[in-house]
Amino acid sequence: MAQPPLPVIDFDLSRLPSDGTFTRPAGAHYTQITSQDQEFVNFLATLSIRVNNDPTRARATRLFRFVGSLPRGYTIWWHLTRGTGKYTKEIFGHPGGPTKYFRGAESFKDHILEMMAANELRNRQVKAGVIHYNGSLALNAIHYHNYRNLMLAGPGYDPNLFWLDPRNLANANGLYTPVDSDVEVRRYIQNNPVIAVPCTCNLPR
Ligand SMILES: [Zn+2]
Repeated sequence: MAQPPLPVIDFDLSRLPSDGTFTRPAGAHYTQITSQDQEFVNFLATLSIRVNNDPTRARATRLFRFVGSLPRGYTIWWHLTRGTGKYTKEIFGHPGGPTKYFRGAESFKDHILEMMAANELRNRQVKAGVIHYNGSLALNAIHYHNYRNLMLAGPGYDPNLFWLDPRNLANANGLYTPVDSDVEVRRYIQNNPVIAVPCTCNLPR
């Protein structure tokens, strides 16, 4: 039976925290391809296909359509190769320095996948931190509730009836305002536009 088509997400890579360094090629044999050029749009389309078709995404539940620009600090260039007289597309900005570059979308897609994985991991860590923090807020709320409850003890008020078990953090529901982990992730990304990307790309030089 045919699988239903996967949802396609418009995704602007320039909104991802990036390891791009803004390094550019030196010399007269390079011409930058800007995001206004049709060639840039074509590059993003090819990059989308390469990323979507990568074997590491075989079980992915959505497809990407890259729109807008490249990750911060990366630029695309036409390189007129001396000797052959041919133009190749090269992508500069890798932390490895100005002599390290990617050759075409097929070469760059591996680093994009690494960058997306590094961001997903970091986002999961931020969310785990929020869950941990909310847990401590919940526990404090229960202890505070029980303390106040005890203070009210007296004729006609049995604090045992209103005591909350601190071992069940769900008892704190309504007693405190949990931090929204999606909001925290967005805030973290806004404050940290740079991310270290563990890189195993094989770069030409
Ligand atoms: Zn890489």
